[in-house]
Amino acid sequence: MALVVCKFGGTSVGGTERLRAVAQRLVDRKLSGDRVVAVVSAMGDVTDELVALAQDVTHDPPEREMDMLLATGEQVTIALLAMAIHALGHKAISFTGPQVGIVTDSGHTKAKIQEVRADCVNDALDAGMIVIVAGFQGVTPDGQITTLGRGGSDTTAIAVAAGIGADVCEILTDVDGIYTADPRVVSVARKLDVVSYEEMLEMAATGAKVLQLRAVEFARNHGVVIHCRSSFNDMPGTIVREVDGSMEQAIISGVTHDTSEAKVTIRDVPDLPGVAAIVFARMADANVNVDMIVQNVSEQGMTDISFTTPKEDLVRAKHAAAEVVSELGARHWFVDESIAKVSLVGAGMKTHPGMAAKMFRTLADADVNLDMISTSSIRVSCVIDGDQVERAVRALHTSFGLDEDAVKAETSPAFLEGA
Ligand code: ASP
Ligand code: MG
Repeated sequence: MALVVCKFGGTSVGGTERLRAVAQRLVDRKLSGDRVVAVVSAMGDVTDELVALAQDVTHDPPEREMDMLLATGEQVTIALLAMAIHALGHKAISFTGPQVGIVTDSGHTKAKIQEVRADCVNDALDAGMIVIVAGFQGVTPDGQITTLGRGGSDTTAIAVAAGIGADVCEILTDVDGIYTADPRVVSVARKLDVVSYEEMLEMAATGAKVLQLRAVEFARNHGVVIHCRSSFNDMPGTIVREVDGSMEQAIISGVTHDTSEAKVTIRDVPDLPGVAAIVFARMADANVNVDMIVQNVSEQGMTDISFTTPKEDLVRAKHAAAEVVSELGARHWFVDESIAKVSLVGAGMKTHPGMAAKMFRTLADADVNLDMISTSSIRVSCVIDGDQVERAVRALHTSFGLDEDAVKAETSPAFLEGA
């Protein structure tokens, strides 16, 4: 008997038909002997529709009221799902985030979880019920409803799993696991059986969209094992957990890409101590997230500074860049919105030198020009022209031996047949 948390995203509960299928799946799980908690998102595009409704009323909704509004989406799903389970003749009870004691700070629309007091979940499980919890929402210590940021139901699920000491947190979604690359770009991408937290964090941070970055961080910090799998079939998906050093791991686990960033360049800033500090202090003040940074070799006391930032921060970044130019007497600033970032991720990089060199060679052979480079101990990322990103991802996937066929060839017993 296992204690499991199963999280279903918006697509998996996007309609009453699908809700009934989720109910059946939970009941089957219960009948197999497990203690079952479900965490669910708002149905389909409901959260987007609520955001649009608010925008119709005002362009600047108070964040507290935004949370009141958005939290309703998940509340619809939990009630309907509990009803669907009752209709199958089984016991279920739904709880909102505040009811299960998901306590957050007061950062409305992007609140952080501080504590999970899951007593009522344990009591309901002891009473033999399937427990259904609303994702994405919490409550401040003084009783205000909060939400956790878009996609936040993953974090709720992990937090609940940590809070009740679940054996596994299953994230059931519309893809069947974590792939070596986006299968829409690389048709020969493979599903991975196991990924370490460390690798998953790098993948999520560089464009893999299956799991929310914050949820993976939370899981690692609390040792929650994640099983990312399809909500539409029973196939095993990908396990994300601590991988101990004694296990043999692939050198490279995947190639990710991200087209959601833009590059801002400030030309001809004086090359003096403190200049970078001013540029990035202004960006931080404007709430602009900065990813990669490059400062050019200086020429005649002047230099260029470039950095990448999410496109959603770009309006603020442009204002801040204009201020920086006049404050520092720089020449001008400009933005390139057609960049892409391609990254190679793998824990084996720590012990296998030469991966970056091989990556650059592969990209050169594919005629892809590198604009910026950054690394961590298990990742190399390159900023390239957005038009070349698919070609770059495919070339890297092949050259690092990740293609489905390449792996089959290596492991297939075909060469024994002739023996
Ligand atoms: N319903 C929320 C959203 O769409 C939370 C979630 O789906 O995880 O962002
Ligand atoms: Mg959603």
